[in-house]
Amino acid sequence: MSEPYQIVIGLEVHVQLLTRSKLFCGCDTRFGAPPNTQTCPVCIGMPGSLPVMNRAAFELALKSAVALNCVIGRQTKWDRKNYYYPDLPKGYQISQYDLPIGRDGWLELTDADGQATARRIGIIRVHLEEDVGKSMHDQPSGVGASRIDLNRAGTPLLEIVSRPDIRSPAEAKTFLSELKLLLNYLGVSDCNMQEGSLRVDANINLHIDTPQSTVATPIVEVKNMNSFRAVERAMAYEAQRQYQQWQRTGKRLGEAAKSTRGWDDSAGVTREQRTKEESSDYRYFPEPDLPPVIVSEAEIEAARASLGELPAAIRKRLQLQYGITPYDSEVIVSAGRAVVDYYEATVRTCGDGKTAANWVQQDVLRTLNQQQIEIQQFPVPPEALGRLILKVLGGELTTARARDVLAEMVTSGRSLEESLARLGVSSVDENELLELCRRLVTANPKIVAEARQGKLKGIAQLVGQAKQVNPNVNPKRVQEVCLQLIQQPQAST
Ligand code: ZN
Ligand code: MN
Repeated sequence: MSEPYQIVIGLEVHVQLLTRSKLFCGCDTRFGAPPNTQTCPVCIGMPGSLPVMNRAAFELALKSAVALNCVIGRQTKWDRKNYYYPDLPKGYQISQYDLPIGRDGWLELTDADGQATARRIGIIRVHLEEDVGKSMHDQPSGVGASRIDLNRAGTPLLEIVSRPDIRSPAEAKTFLSELKLLLNYLGVSDCNMQEGSLRVDANINLHIDTPQSTVATPIVEVKNMNSFRAVERAMAYEAQRQYQQWQRTGKRLGEAAKSTRGWDDSAGVTREQRTKEESSDYRYFPEPDLPPVIVSEAEIEAARASLGELPAAIRKRLQLQYGITPYDSEVIVSAGRAVVDYYEATVRTCGDGKTAANWVQQDVLRTLNQQQIEIQQFPVPPEALGRLILKVLGGELTTARARDVLAEMVTSGRSLEESLARLGVSSVDENELLELCRRLVTANPKIVAEARQGKLKGIAQLVGQAKQVNPNVNPKRVQEVCLQLIQQPQAST
């Protein structure tokens, strides 16, 4: 990095928790229902309705806070965040202000090749709050009209606020990927950005080295980023823009108000939006309709015990247990817990961690990607893949031929044995093989002569020719038989 500045980024992430019902009422949280079909007096804020906390949402939030290494608030409470917006007809959002569920935690990042970088990004706070509704602008039915869908109002959200510890656009993306992976493994959220179950805002400024001192530029909040890639691009753009603005104006942190900008993904720029409210503008006060929540040591311990094995630990374990590279373990772990289980079951059958890792990455994951399916829908059980790999390791099949077999299993859904039979893979008998090798040895006098002098390089060509004649031959057997024929006394050939 030759830039004369340091980028400083903090992220504010909202994720939707995987509960069946909303945070303070029993309404369904399913995505994609017709507008305003999942509402009730509580979540649209009718006077006189009373909220009741969803225990399952609280437990998911607690689990997340523990996994993010937070200090858990033993007493936590609810606050009203007051503001007016069309998607919030009740005029306030129930959130947590001064006593969040968790604070002062961290998330450890790994770099691209899966090495722990020992980069810990601090977590300022983790709290629960309810979502608001959704404005739908310019829908086909209403010319120029905006409508409000309140299905989402009251859906439980976990807000996670990082410290400004992130130092590059790429690191912002890595942080989000790692957070998403962790929450996926915990079963807390699917973090699907397309469906709005993960939303992210960023605060960014620059620390610029000047001959006199290091100066900081005014902090800008960037909104409206709809993918991790968009976050990375928006941060890169904003760093450039702030540097140029600083060169023009020389304005420093404190000399200009904090501003809010929206990312325009197609134009690749950020644009100024309304100025940001300070928290005093929200007139937070304790929610009078909900009692505080007391969290016992036993509940925290139960949450800790329920975490299961987390991605960072699995990456290290796979490397140690199966001798695979940090990169391989990174790819497998990133594909999700079910893929880790599939990989481990494959290794249990074939006994070779490295080869199994190659197959899972190159063949299994590629197929999942191409067909847009989950590993649960992958038609080849790990034991069958393990036995196929054993045939490659034993020299019975080339990798290329084994790939044909796997492709056959994937497309037809047939078993390994049926697929081998269908492709005729097991049909080459020894006599046929011997006959083929004899022909090859006769047809390649130059290679044979060289081999007799100990130069065995040409044997690979014989194997290649054999495979052209019959793709089902066992290449190891071809090599053995050809060498035997070549080394026999010439009189007998
Ligand atoms: Zn409701
Ligand atoms: Mn929030």
